[in-house]
Amino acid sequence: MVTLTDGPCKGIFMVRRSPALLRATLKAELDGTGATDVLDQPDDTPAPQEKVYVYQMLGEPTGFMHIHSSVKGASGFFASAEYKYLADVDGEQLRDNAAWRRWCFDNVERLTGHAYCRKCGKQLIPAPARFDGEPAIVGYLPCDHRTS
Ligand SMILES: [Zn+2]
Repeated sequence: MVTLTDGPCKGIFMVRRSPALLRATLKAELDGTGATDVLDQPDDTPAPQEKVYVYQMLGEPTGFMHIHSSVKGASGFFASAEYKYLADVDGEQLRDNAAWRRWCFDNVERLTGHAYCRKCGKQLIPAPARFDGEPAIVGYLPCDHRTS
């Protein structure tokens, strides 16, 4: 399960993926008790009545937890992580999946300190400078594009 520790969609969710950046939604209900959800799958899109909020994973993923279920498709490995709400990001501008992906790649390195391959999403490994006395990271090793 992933825990959203604060913000409009605070709560615990069963998800299969725990990306570094995650959209969560709050459904506007007439009685004021909105239903929350997370868009953890690459093809997930917000419903028209859902407002979008953006969350960032805290630290590194804390592991995976195996869930057994009699419901077909509900068994499997579920992601486990904690997220914080990014209050200064307007999730409504990122409803569209293409816009969301573009925003993630443009901001993930600044937000998390990690860079990810734009083709396959794999985390890139920093390539240290080639010369002694220059400890700064100058780039990333080329991606081998994971096949899984
Ligand atoms: Zn790649």
